[in-house]
Amino acid sequence: MSHVDSIVIVGAGTMGSGIAFAAASAGLSAVVIDVHEPALGKAKDYHGKTAARSVEKGRLLEADAKGLLGRIRYEKDLGAAKGTRFAIEAASERVDLKKDLFRRLAEVALPDAVLATNTSSISITEIASSVGAHADRVIGMHFFNPVPVMKLVEVIKGLATSDSTVERTIALAKTMGKTPIPANDRAGFVSNRVLMPLINEAFFAWMEGVARPEDIDEIMKLGCNFPMGPLRLADFIGLDVCHDIMMVLHRELGDPKFFPCPLLRQLVTAGRLGDKTGRGVYDHAR
Ligand code: NAD
Repeated sequence: MSHVDSIVIVGAGTMGSGIAFAAASAGLSAVVIDVHEPALGKAKDYHGKTAARSVEKGRLLEADAKGLLGRIRYEKDLGAAKGTRFAIEAASERVDLKKDLFRRLAEVALPDAVLATNTSSISITEIASSVGAHADRVIGMHFFNPVPVMKLVEVIKGLATSDSTVERTIALAKTMGKTPIPANDRAGFVSNRVLMPLINEAFFAWMEGVARPEDIDEIMKLGCNFPMGPLRLADFIGLDVCHDIMMVLHRELGDPKFFPCPLLRQLVTAGRLGDKTGRGVYDHAR
């Protein structure tokens, strides 16, 4: 098994930039690739600020912060993935986009490279169908936001994923200080299959007037020992993301219990998407 000390991350958004920071914190080199130049600038800014905060709080020495930041490179072209042993795709959640990226990644990466996707809801087997004979090297590597803090990595095996690909993915997750846990390729894997219906049900409870949103959240916090109530969590994740994942669960698993709550749909239609737009269930601008 070849040791990985450098990885490529495709997509420099919330997740890609977090994965790059976690990798560099663990001593790995990371090349972050994004077609959208401002996303690269934003990622670089986030990395600088996060490292500076760690120095301020005494968690990181100034010299180590410099070293960490020096291990991250920012590139616009997918050609920068040439010769990589391990690529993690964290681009936008669109199936055609991901399939196209994997086709191109398979051409530039080393012939035995692991090609991982951070998708929340798209089938690993479907993404792997775009790379033909290379499907054994495609795997789900599902990180959680914020990546530098969250320990879990759900490792999802597609139909053709080889044992060696699983082992190398688990090894990389451990190198990054994460806890990898295996799951199979069914819609939503485990995390979203269980979490999203819970969030959806909280919207139903609110819509039916069972309790006020802040009371639903407080009840779940105190009653279930959740660090955050489900409606507050929905604002953090993004109401549009929650809605889209429910639609995938509904389509793929075919059970009406996965249909998004009408109130959730309505808030999305109104542009109330949560923290990112300043208003969702709660008003964050105040
Ligand atoms: P995001 O919108 O913050 O970032 C996506 C980035 O992909 C953007 O910067 C965009 O410019 C870039 N991109 C689009 N097309 C590209 C291409 N052809 N080549 C390179 N880059 C391209 O999204 P995100 O929240 O970081 O999510 C990324 C992935 O991670 C999605 O698959 C999502 O489902 C998954 N995910 C998200 C979360 C979360 O909480 N946000 C958690 C787990 C998994």
